Amino acid sequence: MKNTYLNKSYRDLSQKYPHEREFLQAVHLFFNEIEPVIDLHPEYQDQAVLERLVEPERAISFRVPWVNDQGKVKVNTGYRVQFSSVLGPYKGGIRFDPSVNLSILKFLGFEQTFKNALTGLPMGGGKGGADFDPRGKSDQEIMRFCQSFMTELYRHIGPDLDVPAGDIGVAGREIGYLYGQYKRLQGPKPGVLTGKPVILGGNESRPPATGYGLIYFLKQMLAETGQDLAGKTVMISGAGNVASHACRKAQELGAHVVTLSDIDYAIYDPKGIDLELVIQLRDDPQANLADYSKRHPQAQVRAQSVWDLAIEADIALPCATQNEMNHKQVKRLLNKGLGFIAEGANMPLTAEACRVVKEAEIPYAPGKASNAGGVAVSGLEMCQNAARLPMKPDQVDQRLQEIMTHIFSQCKEASLRYGGGLNYAFGADIASFEKVVEGLLQLGVV
Ligand code: NDP
Repeated sequence: MKNTYLNKSYRDLSQKYPHEREFLQAVHLFFNEIEPVIDLHPEYQDQAVLERLVEPERAISFRVPWVNDQGKVKVNTGYRVQFSSVLGPYKGGIRFDPSVNLSILKFLGFEQTFKNALTGLPMGGGKGGADFDPRGKSDQEIMRFCQSFMTELYRHIGPDLDVPAGDIGVAGREIGYLYGQYKRLQGPKPGVLTGKPVILGGNESRPPATGYGLIYFLKQMLAETGQDLAGKTVMISGAGNVASHACRKAQELGAHVVTLSDIDYAIYDPKGIDLELVIQLRDDPQANLADYSKRHPQAQVRAQSVWDLAIEADIALPCATQNEMNHKQVKRLLNKGLGFIAEGANMPLTAEACRVVKEAEIPYAPGKASNAGGVAVSGLEMCQNAARLPMKPDQVDQRLQEIMTHIFSQCKEASLRYGGGLNYAFGADIASFEKVVEGLLQLGVV
C-alpha cells in the first residue's frame, strides 16, 4: 500500500490489536484492494472513515456456564460482535468452535459488513459465537449450552436490532434451541434468528443457500470465459452445510466433484463423490469419513488436508474454514492446471496464498461475494417473518439466483471501472466499500 492514510490506519490498528491475527489479515487484504478509492477521496481522512469502519460499534463477551451429562459444571466464553449497523440491523452467524476468539469474530464481522452490503438488502454486519466444541456432545448437552448462551445474548439482539444465524457448529437444531430460550425470555418473535427450522418460521431454501449461491456465482465466472460446469473436475473441502450443498448443486449441473473432507480426513473419489454416503457418515456419531472407502474401495481417504492431495482439478471450492489453504498448496494446484477458485468459506486462503492467486491471474471469487447467498436468503427469511407470510422455497431460490447475479455484476463493474480487469476480489471490496461509506457519511459522525 502506498497511500499514507491507508498505511497509517493499518499501522495504528496493528499496534492497538497486535494479537488479532485474523482480524488484521482481513483488514490488510481489504485495504490493499480499496487503495484506488482512497486515493480519489483524500477527504475521507478528515472524516476518519477507515478508523470508524475497522472499530466494531460494540463487542460483547460473556460467561456461558452449563452442566454436562456427568453433572459437571463447564464454562465457556460467548461473544457477539456488532460490527456495523450503517445499512441495517446487525446480521451475521453464530459459530461454536474451540478456536473462537475475538480476533476471529472481528474478522468475520468485518467481512460480513461488506458482504451484506453486496446483497443489496438492508442489513448491517455482525458475528458471534463461543469457544464451545459441539463435537461428541449429546443432544441434551447441546440444548443446555444453547439455553445458557441465549440467557445472556437475548438482551443484546432483536428482530430490528441484531439477527444472528448459523455458522460452523450451528445449524437448524442449535437455532431451534436458541430460539426456544429466546422465546421463553422475550416472547415469540421469530424474526430474531434466521436459519430456523421451517415449522418455526424458517424457509427450506435457507440451509442450501450458501452452497447453492456459491455455485450460481461460479457459473457466472465460468460463463464469462465461455465455459460451463458440465464435465469440470471440482475439489471441495469440508463436509458441512456449505460444502455438502455446493457439492449437490455442482453435481446437479454435471460437474465431477472428486473430494470432500472434515477436520480429520480428506476423501478423494476419482469416480465422483457419493454425497449421500458422506452425509450419512458425517451425521452418524458411531462412524467417520474413513468408512467411505469400505463402500467405495477405489476412493482414497487420507488423514491430511484435502489441499495436499496431489490431484488434477479445474476448480477448487474451499468450504471449511479460514486459512485452510496455503500458498504451497495453491501453487501445486495451479501447476496441475487449476483454473478457478471460488470461496465458500470466509477467508479460506492465507494472505500469501491470495498473492499467489493474484499473480496467476485466474478467476477467483472472494467469500464476501461468492458465499453471500446464505445471508441473502436470511434477509428474505427476515422479510417473511416481518410480513408473517411464508415464501415458497422455489420463489426464494429464484430470488437467490437473481441476487447472486447482481453481486457478480457489481464485482465485475467495480473492477472494470477501476481498471482491474476481471478481478472479482478487487471489485467486491470496492463495490461494498463504496456502499458502506456512502451510508456512513450520510449518518453524520457516528
Ligand atoms: P459446518 O460446521 O456445517 O461445516 C464445517 C466443515 O468444515 C465441517 O466438515 C468441519 O469438519 C470442517 N472444518 C471445520 N474446522 C476445520 C478445520 N480447522 N480444518 C479442516 N476442516 C474443518 O459449517 P458451515 O458449512 O456452515 O461453514 C463453513 C464455512 O463457510 C465457514 O468459513 C463459514 O464461516 C462459512 N460460511 C457459512 C455460511 C452458512 O450459511 N452456514 C454462510 C457464509 C459463510 P468437522 O465436521 O470434522 O468439524
